[in-house]
Amino acid sequence: MKGDSCSTCSTKSSCAGGCERSEAELAEMYDLYADTSEGHLIWVELDYSQSNPMLKDVSKELIAKARSFDDQRVIGVLFGPESARYAAREAFNYGADTIYHVRHPTFTDFDLESFTAGLTTVAERVKPNTMILAASDEGRELGPRAAARMGVGITADCTGLEMEKGVLRMTRPTFGGKLMATIISNTRPQMATVRPGSFLIPEKDEGRQGTVINWPMNPAAGIEPEESAESENEGCLQDAELIISVGSGIGNLRNLELAKEIAERLGADMACSRSVVEKGWMDQSHQVGQTGNVVRPRIYLALGISGALQHQAGMSGSQKIIAINNDPDAAIHQIANISIAGEVGEFLQRLLKKLDEEEPAEV
Ligand SMILES: Cc1cc2nc3c(=O)[nH]c(=O)nc-3n(C[C@H](O)[C@H](O)[C@H](O)COP(=O)(O)OP(=O)(O)OC[C@H]3O[C@@H](n4cnc5c(N)ncnc54)[C@H](O)[C@@H]3O)c2cc1C
Repeated sequence: MKGDSCSTCSTKSSCAGGCERSEAELAEMYDLYADTSEGHLIWVELDYSQSNPMLKDVSKELIAKARSFDDQRVIGVLFGPESARYAAREAFNYGADTIYHVRHPTFTDFDLESFTAGLTTVAERVKPNTMILAASDEGRELGPRAAARMGVGITADCTGLEMEKGVLRMTRPTFGGKLMATIISNTRPQMATVRPGSFLIPEKDEGRQGTVINWPMNPAAGIEPEESAESENEGCLQDAELIISVGSGIGNLRNLELAKEIAERLGADMACSRSVVEKGWMDQSHQVGQTGNVVRPRIYLALGISGALQHQAGMSGSQKIIAINNDPDAAIHQIANISIAGEVGEFLQRLLKKLDEEEPAEV
């Protein structure tokens, strides 16, 4: 007791010898059980069948629907290799504010265990009010598993969602489709899977932007992804012994991923020309040339690089230059020690096959 007031409930009372209020009374008094969950978490599914990863239509539907609920944050979780971050831009265009990019080269394929771990770890961090997944084949597996891991309920196969003062009203057919039931959940996050095609896809808002949070994750290690602010700035190019450098002749993100896979397997550093930076395919910290890094590796493998003077300014001191360019007159062939006038894509495929056949020798 402090003076006339009880030190536990801070009110003037007759709490002599200890606070006389029950735990429930105290909880109500100080609003201890107030719901602090905030935001809508969407599992963003990607289509990897194109050369660049794209948002599936159902993900556009769900992001836009969540955006229409209220003014809370819309947070997307997507899984994929580095190139998947380009799909984040599309997610922003449809209404996402933040994208958690859970990264691993193998995440182009659905991996139930890793995706459950990734999704629930993000949910623990974000504490969303709602969590919505598509009722796709994968979403039907992932949603209930994630719900079970978090100890919350889930309404499967919804065809309608409405938000009322933070309460998600989830509508789904029942009794063999004869009745529509509207369900509310008393656990948080309120979880639902939604049938693809349930909502309209609005026009893209090209001007919308957001934040990408990178979460490299090792599927073998499981649960705890390690967050990184920007993994593009890894390593120091100036000290690199072996550099694989790509120009705009790399053609597409799929080839870029192949080049990165090869670099990883050979222990090489990745670099690029300015036009690759301008396309947004790699970060400026990887640029070689007059306005980029100056490098002197033992081997500089130039893939689809023209060899403009401004690029040469950053790499002509390399001990050995190997150039792959389908234009035999390209300037890079003039300074290369080994010139291959061929297609980059074909070269990458062959090199990968070779690496698959035998462990790479020391270069
Ligand atoms: C002031 C200034 C500073 C600059 N600083 C830099 C700098 O620091 N670094 C830099 O790189 N550039 C710099 N540039 C830009 C530079 O002039 C070139 O525009 C740039 O280097 C070109 O990049 P690239 O070779 O990748 O692209 P491109 O010029 O488009 O060349 C692509 C090459 O790929 C080949 N190709 C296409 N398809 C294939 C295929 N399927 N298989 C194999 N080959 C293929 C083509 O034959 C072509 O030679 C600067 C320019 C200016 C004006």
